[in-house]
Amino acid sequence: MQNKAAAAVIPGEVRPRDTADTVSRVLKNTLLRRRSELKKAREGFFQHPVRHRVRPVVRSISRAQAIACSLLLLCIGGPAWGGEHPIHHALKVELHPREHRFQVDDTISLPPSAGHSIQFTLHAGLNPRADHATLETVPDPAPSDSAVPMQRYRLTLDQGVNRFTLHYGGVIDHPLEQVPSEERQFEVTAGLIDQEGVFLDSTSDWFPIVAGAMVTFSMDVSLPGGWDAVSQGKRTRYKKESGGTTVRWACDKPQDDIYLVAAQFTEYHRDAGDVQLQVFLRTPDAQLARRYLAAADRYIGRYQTLLGAYPYGKFALVENFWQSGYGMPSFTLLGSQIIRFPFIIYTSYPHEILHNWWGNGVYVDYREGNWSEGLTAYLSDHLVKVQQHQGAAYRRELLQKYADFVSGAKDFPLSEFTARESQASEAVGYGKALMFFHMLHRRLGDEAFVKALRLFYKDNVYKAADYDDLQRAFESVAHEDLTPIFRQWVRRTGAPALAAAAATASRNGGDWQVKFTLDQTQAEPAYRLRVPVAVTLQGRSNAYQTTVSMNSKHREVVLSVPARPLRVDVDPEFDVFRRLSRDEIPPALSGLFGAQSLLIVLPAQAPPPLLHAYQGLAEAWRDNPAFNVQVAMDDQMKTLPRDRAVWLFGWENRFKSQAQQALAGYQSVAVDKGGSLRIDQQTFPAPGYSLVLAAEQSNDGHAPLGWLMTTRPDALAGLGRKLPHYTKYSYLVFQGDAPDNIDRGMWPVLHSPLSLSLDGARQSVPMAALTPRRALIQLIDTGH
Ligand SMILES: [Zn+2]
Repeated sequence: MQNKAAAAVIPGEVRPRDTADTVSRVLKNTLLRRRSELKKAREGFFQHPVRHRVRPVVRSISRAQAIACSLLLLCIGGPAWGGEHPIHHALKVELHPREHRFQVDDTISLPPSAGHSIQFTLHAGLNPRADHATLETVPDPAPSDSAVPMQRYRLTLDQGVNRFTLHYGGVIDHPLEQVPSEERQFEVTAGLIDQEGVFLDSTSDWFPIVAGAMVTFSMDVSLPGGWDAVSQGKRTRYKKESGGTTVRWACDKPQDDIYLVAAQFTEYHRDAGDVQLQVFLRTPDAQLARRYLAAADRYIGRYQTLLGAYPYGKFALVENFWQSGYGMPSFTLLGSQIIRFPFIIYTSYPHEILHNWWGNGVYVDYREGNWSEGLTAYLSDHLVKVQQHQGAAYRRELLQKYADFVSGAKDFPLSEFTARESQASEAVGYGKALMFFHMLHRRLGDEAFVKALRLFYKDNVYKAADYDDLQRAFESVAHEDLTPIFRQWVRRTGAPALAAAAATASRNGGDWQVKFTLDQTQAEPAYRLRVPVAVTLQGRSNAYQTTVSMNSKHREVVLSVPARPLRVDVDPEFDVFRRLSRDEIPPALSGLFGAQSLLIVLPAQAPPPLLHAYQGLAEAWRDNPAFNVQVAMDDQMKTLPRDRAVWLFGWENRFKSQAQQALAGYQSVAVDKGGSLRIDQQTFPAPGYSLVLAAEQSNDGHAPLGWLMTTRPDALAGLGRKLPHYTKYSYLVFQGDAPDNIDRGMWPVLHSPLSLSLDGARQSVPMAALTPRRALIQLIDTGH
């Protein structure tokens, strides 16, 4: 069960505070607009339950306005609004959850650079009144299509003051709404004061938002009895009594948002040096809290050693009442089910904690691309896999996702990634970015790579940074011009494709010489690559390993090796970001779910209840806007089309022999006539099991072919929900009606074009052992 769920989950992400995850790339230039108006993101950390798509609360932005905004920033001093001169809010907030309302006094201190007059926005209907200033409403230059009604104000300070107080209050109540994603619906709110809980951030303009300004704050919150409030920074005052709770949170580090999360929590805490660790649970569970506190202690300690001091005074895990996966500065807001999955503590949790360095410590300048997800995933998710000796398999999966989900129009450069909105944008914004950092790491080595990261962190903490800032840090450590490397990976769309051929071996004195050709086969110009090569030698258990530089489309490689070469493997550990050849990729469900168009073929001969259930599943997928699905009956077709992915349903399907033929190359699998499946040494008879197999039509290119069969109509609804979470697998076995996954795996790669046999080797020998790799830090406790 644990693994099954793990397969369905990918780790979380930081909430991109100044962009909407649904802002399309076409709108990239409009990101010049003030930071906070664009931060309409709800980033979920499940691939499925909580992907952040918040179309309803995204505001439309005109180009004219974007330019006007940047001019406005220049007028009022431009960079002076940045991290060095934040606006300070001293907030007093009274929350009345039962009435969905709050009352706020906000004393705002402006930096001298702000001048006499500012504009800000505030949630509509809050009737603000200002002391020491005059306030007038201003029509919004670009009327909003947001779910959040917003009012713009101009405020003119009285002579000689730089501080004013705003008194306002009213209702903020935007109930959770369902947002469809590729795999599943999930919930978002633009802002909510409710008996179940309070969630406020700048999406709702709950505090006065000044374009382009960073903020520091102190916030006194008073709440009903039994309630607690959490925000960024540190808790500096706290009184919880039966009649009510008062609490103060203070953050003196520049922020681009102020979060206010409140509910009836039970709190657990622990000190870890200067950092206070907290867990706020909606349902008390001391054991669970202890585990999260201990894990936070360990992860923060490890990351501090690696990267530099943790940037805040506390870290809190906060249980949410909807299934979110948000990482905010100094806390994470995770759904109640999510925190109780046992694997989260080893997967999403370190990822969320690391976001305090990348994304919530050093902020992202979204105009030039969100680098933070790739770097965070590299040093958490990927690092854990390296620690578990599964780094190469993990990277191959990333490359497979890119190959399956990203083609043509779906591709874009890293400089245009803002947030995950689809499998394709994830494969680029997380996958390609992660591989870019991996290649930098391989190029520079452990010591220089870590030194560059520490420098980047030190120079940019509490500021917005982009890939140019990263390049500067890496160059100052590497002492080389990395412009071509950064340019080709950050600015270019696409990926190189590699092919190796013509391997020969000959004696060269006491040594041996091995020659082969290496080509970049993509249509686009050559990339500058460092390609790892492993040569398996006669009588040696360890391979000879080296790296070959390649700056052109073709290169002849000549290597001198100390014994007779038997086999050459190019990039055997998937260290280069590249488009995998179809022959390097075992067929998997991603080929079906990622296909441009998919035909489902139903078995006319199936018993009616079963056929009906198959139809239900086919229709559910057809209705999902993420898939382009057509449905046909097998008795209406003479042959299977070869120009699209085909999914056969049913043991009774009349095209099943084509699936059997397609699987014939795999010795480990056999489907027998009586209706049972053998995988390796295990046999699964048809009754009781639901089986899913991925293959490729054997008579042409690589058109994906899937085969799903069951004898249990009631299992199909569950299969329809679950299968999109298992895209990396070649086969799956489910039991019962839930149904529960009991087996899964990937077919072997049979004909990799990057593995070459050498003359004299009678049959392909297995690759010799490669040098084991060590993770930069021992992040998780493998003693578990
Ligand atoms: Zn993340």
